[in-house]
Amino acid sequence: MTSTLLPGNIVYGGPITAHEAQDYRSLGQYVLDKYKSFGDQVVMIDAVTGVEYTAKYLYESTVRMAHILQKLGVKHNDVVGLSSENNISFAIAMFAGFAVGATVAPLNVTYSDREVDHAINLSHPKIIFASKMTVDLVAKVAKRNKFVKGIIALSGSSKNHPNVYSFTELMSNDKFKTPADFTSPLANKIEDVALIVCSSGTTGLPKGVQLTQFNLLATLDSQIQPTMMPLNEITLLTVIPWFHAFGCLTLITCACMGTRLVYLPKFEENLFLGAIEKYRVMMAFMVPPLMVFLAKHPIVDKYDLSSLMVLLCGAAPLSRETEDQIKERIGVPFIRQGYGLSESTLSVLVQNDEFCKPGSVGVLKVGISCKVVDPDTGKILGKNERGELCFKGDGIMKGYIGDTQSTQTAIKDGWLHTGDIGYFDDDFEFFIVDRIKELIKYKGFQVPPAEIEALLLTHDDIKDVAVIGRPDEEAGELPMAFVVKQAKVQLTEEDVIKFVHERASPAKRLRGGVIFVDEIPKNPSGKILRRILRDMLKKPKSKL
Ligand code: AMP
Repeated sequence: MTSTLLPGNIVYGGPITAHEAQDYRSLGQYVLDKYKSFGDQVVMIDAVTGVEYTAKYLYESTVRMAHILQKLGVKHNDVVGLSSENNISFAIAMFAGFAVGATVAPLNVTYSDREVDHAINLSHPKIIFASKMTVDLVAKVAKRNKFVKGIIALSGSSKNHPNVYSFTELMSNDKFKTPADFTSPLANKIEDVALIVCSSGTTGLPKGVQLTQFNLLATLDSQIQPTMMPLNEITLLTVIPWFHAFGCLTLITCACMGTRLVYLPKFEENLFLGAIEKYRVMMAFMVPPLMVFLAKHPIVDKYDLSSLMVLLCGAAPLSRETEDQIKERIGVPFIRQGYGLSESTLSVLVQNDEFCKPGSVGVLKVGISCKVVDPDTGKILGKNERGELCFKGDGIMKGYIGDTQSTQTAIKDGWLHTGDIGYFDDDFEFFIVDRIKELIKYKGFQVPPAEIEALLLTHDDIKDVAVIGRPDEEAGELPMAFVVKQAKVQLTEEDVIKFVHERASPAKRLRGGVIFVDEIPKNPSGKILRRILRDMLKKPKSKL
């Protein structure tokens, strides 16, 4: 589909022609019916255990867990938390949540106590599914948050904690006799929230992004445009965490398309490459650090990666050099970049066979409009003019949960303001050139500077602080802090790094280091002038 320029310099990706998903009674029913229709087809493969799962198995397990959730008192529009690495139980738990019309709130498995607390106080889950890795922490945090009525441990037994049920015991308990079929409650698709994912947006602390059933269903329809590669005929590898919007939405897409999805719980070099070789993987979801690995790591040469046809990369900028190196080294014919935000459900810009200039993030997906706005004047800009990208369309979130003010700042007249600077060229192909929002991206993960700054300000010896991202070839950016010490205190770089290390999840660690300064540059209203700090990094000798 070719984009068109509408009056007022609005670029439009064209209409979504498929309506299959949107016309369904609910997201839960759509996923269940899809699984049912795929029957004995293998749809998921755990690359660590080698176990293969059919769509029939997923259908039956999802129906059973949905039934169990109802018996446990989970109702339409209740929230179900989900803290797990990628594994089959994650998929069953999430789809069961959808089946009962609940909202699913995935949680980052690396979250610290403080972060889990913050996240569940945004979404207020009634039940939380937690993996072996996270169950102790989740149970501890849940104890002080009375809205959590129970925890379902995805592996292991329930003996050690009160109010913790075992997934396996529940699934095999005859008390929960499962009917062969399940009808999902009729949804108010525009209002009912399917997913709450965490994002800090353009400023401040992490917020709960509410994606409605309609957001997801329309996005699913936009994926089945005739130009897309038929996802039901391919084997696809993913290691992207399903708790992140990119991972979660691609899992749902693959489930509904009948893709043979090979998954890994986390990145490990040999497992990743071995899985491509063993399963003859044709397509893989990627983030730039994985692309750098494929481009540079010597171990890559030991594996037969000749089956790889397409690498789909998103979540952070991919350099042209890395793309060229991979093409040359492995001969992957198609490398496609996409661009999107948690707030836009999935990608809004994607490269395709026609529009894939090096360094671009492609063209608008169907159903999406974009305007490029001058951040200083608010003027809508034209071709080849750089400004803030703003998007409108069916995938744009309902808003941040319980935060009308942030929602109104993010979405104005239906336009989502991204905080990313870019432009479109004569062919309506887009390029991202800068980020004006506060966000740092470490290996594709969000690191909100305001959160680390607030944390560091609780340190008695720190008077003021500013956190920015230090550019890094492999990770994209490394969080780093500029710190003003209190008078006459002994505080070292290691002390500051350790302080964050002990209280925040791994992505937020100050891998970019700490620089002590006399003062943090701010504008008259007290806003940190991050640009000055970034410039200072480029000229290390300069002094504030
Ligand atoms: P998240 O909500 O965690 O997916 O983060 C969204 C942000 O990631 C966007 O606003 C961009 O700043 C960045 N991003 C995502 N994809 C790309 C891309 N292909 N190129 C550059 N930045 C990207």
